Order: sequence, then structure tokens, then C-alpha cells
Amino acid sequence: MALRLHDSLTRRLQDLRRPNPDDAKDVFTFYCCGPTVYAPAHIGNFRTFVVNDVLRRLLELEYGAAKVRHVRNLTDVDDRTIGQAKKEGRPLGDITRHWTKLFHEDCAALNCLVPHAEPTATGYIKEQVNMIEVLLQKGNAYRAADGSVYFKLSTFPEYGGLSRIRERELQVTNTVADADHKDSVSDFALWKAYKPEEDGDVRWPGPDGAAPGRPGWHIECSAMSKALLGDTIDLHSGGVDLLFPHHENEIAQSQCCNGTTFARHWYHSEHLLVDGTTMSKSKGNYYTLRDLLDQGYSAPAVRYALLAGHPRKQLNFTLDSLHAAESAIRTLHAYRATLPTTEDVNDVFRPVQEALHDDLNTPAAFGALFTIINRRETDATRASFDRALFALGLDLDAASPAQTTAPSAVTALAEQRWAAKQAKDFAAADALRKEITAAGWSMLDRKDGYTLEPVKK
Ligand code: AMP
Ligand code: ZN
Repeated sequence: MALRLHDSLTRRLQDLRRPNPDDAKDVFTFYCCGPTVYAPAHIGNFRTFVVNDVLRRLLELEYGAAKVRHVRNLTDVDDRTIGQAKKEGRPLGDITRHWTKLFHEDCAALNCLVPHAEPTATGYIKEQVNMIEVLLQKGNAYRAADGSVYFKLSTFPEYGGLSRIRERELQVTNTVADADHKDSVSDFALWKAYKPEEDGDVRWPGPDGAAPGRPGWHIECSAMSKALLGDTIDLHSGGVDLLFPHHENEIAQSQCCNGTTFARHWYHSEHLLVDGTTMSKSKGNYYTLRDLLDQGYSAPAVRYALLAGHPRKQLNFTLDSLHAAESAIRTLHAYRATLPTTEDVNDVFRPVQEALHDDLNTPAAFGALFTIINRRETDATRASFDRALFALGLDLDAASPAQTTAPSAVTALAEQRWAAKQAKDFAAADALRKEITAAGWSMLDRKDGYTLEPVKK
């Protein structure tokens, strides 16, 4: 079954188009907007990145790892990063390096595959300036009195195709403080002229005829994706809040500059909520991965909880959902230990991937996984199970040391064994011990009872 995914532009489910299999160089190109590195990424941000990681894994399973090229940028210069550097009185690079390092640690803990390229906006200033110069030459951009450069929205009649925003709404939504320098309030900044009181020492030479300054946020992604993936990307994704204006503006810039379709497929995942409102840095209502690890939860359980809801529906985060995730992970762990390492007769866990292929339906994938487990399929093999776990990105071996509560099935076996031992039925007790070990637990006997511990690897 082909990988079908909702396309935000056509608002329909569409098969992701395969790269041309006859062309050895053809790869599937995937660009995902990355984090703004001025503060910790919260688990809401990671919902987006983990969902995108599942997409990357499915693409690899579908086309082969060598046929997928995944780029995720780092926004290391924009209003927020500059604002944070100013607040702390530290150089911009110090701030962004610090938060990038922590972001990478969290990505690794959550078992996200490393993108093939992770460009920084500051590393691609030349490419952004070049693009702005092309837009100026083509008449899609103009220099304002203060030396900033703006995109002239009226030159791109297709604007609003992604968000379906109408001209009237645009006038209201897009009003900004420095509208004075613009021809129209809907025009957006490609290049922001240096302001000493705001920008500290952050500035680069500008596009031809413009003032020194820094790029606008939107042009960063247009330039980095063009430099690393070419003029047309197969798949572009991000959280739903990026749809407008960020992605709408990326389309306008890229298509006017390159004269061709920017992205063949657009995918947006929905937000993680806390108490019914979006988790966000500005609201301060967020958990970081570190907060949760410090409370004894494991990273695989956090990943599981982030995938427990359909990615295109909002998901309310609760600690109860994490408890449930911990228990699910323990069950998976115990089950895996019972599986033979023999060759596949049939791909028993294929329904898990099929659910994911149907618009990345992660809750249906978990449903399929546990249905198969509960059926105790005799054909199930470790290889087939591991393929399903690879698609979901669940690394069971990374589960927390805090996972000291055995699943109820194991506790039941332990109770039976304890009773057998009390009855001096040692043959039955030994047989039950083997079953418990196979489920991934060891039973340690004491004079007056027993404890269960996960089997050490
Ligand atoms: P930022 O670091 O703010 O640029 O955001 C990085 C990514 O996280 C973007 O794709 C956002 O759309 C996404 N994002 C922000 N808040 C949330 C949230 N509460 N739930 C899911 N994704 C989010
Ligand atoms: Zn972007």
C-alpha cells in the first residue's frame, strides 16, 4: 500500500509520489522546518519532530534509506533569538549553540533519526541575499526607505492558496509596527535593516542597494531548501501554526524566484495542548523532555505518548497518558523477549505499517500492534516486530530504569510460581520461572516472598 498523506494545499489525501525509480540519482526530498534555538524545545515542539521522524522512517522503509534526503533547519537568527541574546547580554552564537546542543540531546533521547543536513540560517546568508536580489530584479520585491527589503504581495496572485486566506483577512492579520516603510501592510520583510538598539552586533551586508541587516525569517527556509534540495521539494512539513504566514510566504518567495512549484506535497501536524490550550514557550505552560525524565518517565514512553493521538488532531497532554505509555512500553518489552528470531513466514506486523501508510494514523498503528500481540500469533517473529517498532521509532532498550513494575501477565505467572514453590511442586515452579524469564523478567526469591526485576541485558 502506497504512503498516503493529507496534503494541506489540496486538502485531500494523496499518495506521496515516488522518486523516479529509473533515475539512479533521484531521491525523495523532505524539508521540515526546525526549531528556533533560543530556549528549550518543549514536548509540543517534539510532537511535531517525532511525527516527522515517523514520516522519515516510512519513507526509508518505502524507498530505501539511500533514496531519502531529509533536511531540517535551525533558526538561529530571528527576532526571538536576537531578543534572547539581548536580554542575557550574551553573543547570539552563544545562545543558539547552547540550545542547539540541548535540542540534539533531546532528539537523540527521543530516538529521532538525524537529518541528512541541518543547515543554520546564519550559515546561509549569502544564499538568502542572492534570492532576495533575484526577487528585486524580477520586480517581486522592493527596497524601503530604511534600507529593508519587502516582498510585494500584489505581484503573486496565487498568494493565500495554502491557507486560503482572503485579501480582507490579510489586511487585518498582517499589520506590523513598521508598516510605515512598506507599500502595503500585507507585504512582508525579506531583509530587515540593522537597528542598533535592537540588533546588537548582529548584521551582514545586505542585498544590492539595501542596508546592512539580517534576513527575515521566511526567506531562511526558502534559501536553505533551495541550496540543499533544489527548486522543488517532494515533501515540506511543519506544525500547523507555520502554515500561515510562514509557509505561505515561503511559497511566494520560492516560486517567484525559481519560477517553478516549490513543494509537491505539504503536511502539517496539529498541536500538543495542556489543559485545553496550546503548549507554548510564550504561555509558559510547557514541559520539556528533561522535566519528564527527572520525574522518572522514560524517553520511549514520552515518544509513545506523543504518537498516541492522530497527528492531524490536537492532543491533550496529561501525566496519565504518560503512565499508560510506560505500561504499553513494558508490555512491548516483555512481548519482544518471547519472540523467536527465526525467519519470517509472513509479515505478521504489516498492519502496523499499513495504518501508518494511511495518513500516518499512529493510534491505529498502536491498535494494530496490540491486537496482534493479544492474538498471540504463532507466526510472529522478532524481525517483523522490530520492523514495526522501527517505523514507530520505539527503542525499547532505552526504556527507563524506573520500569520496575511488571505487567499483570508476568505478575500472575509469578503468583502461580510462588504457590507452586510453597506446595513443593518444583517442576511446575521451574517451568513457570522459564516463562517469566522469556517475558523479560527475573523472579528473585526471598524467604517471605519475591521481587520481579527486568532481565539485565
Ligand atoms: P519553534 O521552535 O517555535 O520555531 O517551533 C518548532 C516547531 O514546533 C514548529 O514546527 C512548530 O509548528 C511546532 N510547535 C510549536 N508549538 C507546538 C505545539 N504546542 N505542539 C506541536 N507542535 C508545536
Ligand atoms: Zn521554515
